[in-house]
Amino acid sequence: MEKGTTEYTDVCPECSSTSVSRDYERAEIICNSCGLVIDEKIVDGGPEWRAFDQEQRNKRARTGAPMTYTIHDKGLSTVIDWRNKDGYGKDIPARKRAQMYRLRKWQQRIRVSNSSERNLAFALTDLDKVASRLSLPKGTREQAAVVYRKAVEKGLIRGRSIEGVSAAALYAACRMCNIPRTLDEVSIASKLNRKEIGRTYRFIMRELNINLSPTTPVDYVPRFGSELKLSGETQAKAIEIIRVAMDRELTSGRGPTGVAAASIYIASVLLGERRTQREVADVAGVTEVTIRNRYKELAEKLDIDIII
Ligand SMILES: [Zn+2]
Repeated sequence: MEKGTTEYTDVCPECSSTSVSRDYERAEIICNSCGLVIDEKIVDGGPEWRAFDQEQRNKRARTGAPMTYTIHDKGLSTVIDWRNKDGYGKDIPARKRAQMYRLRKWQQRIRVSNSSERNLAFALTDLDKVASRLSLPKGTREQAAVVYRKAVEKGLIRGRSIEGVSAAALYAACRMCNIPRTLDEVSIASKLNRKEIGRTYRFIMRELNINLSPTTPVDYVPRFGSELKLSGETQAKAIEIIRVAMDRELTSGRGPTGVAAASIYIASVLLGERRTQREVADVAGVTEVTIRNRYKELAEKLDIDIII
């Protein structure tokens, strides 16, 4: 996707919802259903901004990272003297000089990598903290770490906070591992602004060339279902309802969490494990009104007769 294109203005690439709003003041397009910042005209990283940032980076590199978590090389990196003298002040022969030049180069590289290693250690600690608040399995945390590392390698952290990028990496990893969390959930767990996470996420996915198919309501059923302590049968019923609805194209343009919630609600009533619309709404992070609207549509078009 090229920057500045408006291809996604009508359909959210995350959840395929067609309900989007334009914030002209901030020049962005936001999905009303999942909260993703779909497009923004304010292009990140103009030249002045980048220069400023580079300066900051240099400064940071000189003074070292603000906090040390681990001594990664266990204090083994002795600084190689820049003068061509040995320990006794005698000149070093040319043959040795070349060797020392190589060592110095090599050491520089190590030092740079140490500073980013420190940032990485900080990021991974943060990532783990947020991941455990979201009760994510180990595999997903590892996937998030992979995304984060790739973002670092491509220099995408520049001008962004470590916390912001790690939250976005987590959000991405959830999607990649098929256990989607909503932006709201990641936002609460990371104590960061939802739009900011959505914006960083989009940026990273675009720059790393990762394309994920939009989430479907089915993806949300297992988690919402287990949080509502619904049986496997009821969850299967909800999935069945969703599949039929998808086949008949009743879900296109609808936020997946809302459709999942409504289907779960219907299934819970049908199989005698009734949960209230309020309970389902809370778990799914949607409003009761959304559930009611989706529920009415589904019940009517799928000819489901249930007594509310
Ligand atoms: Zn969306």
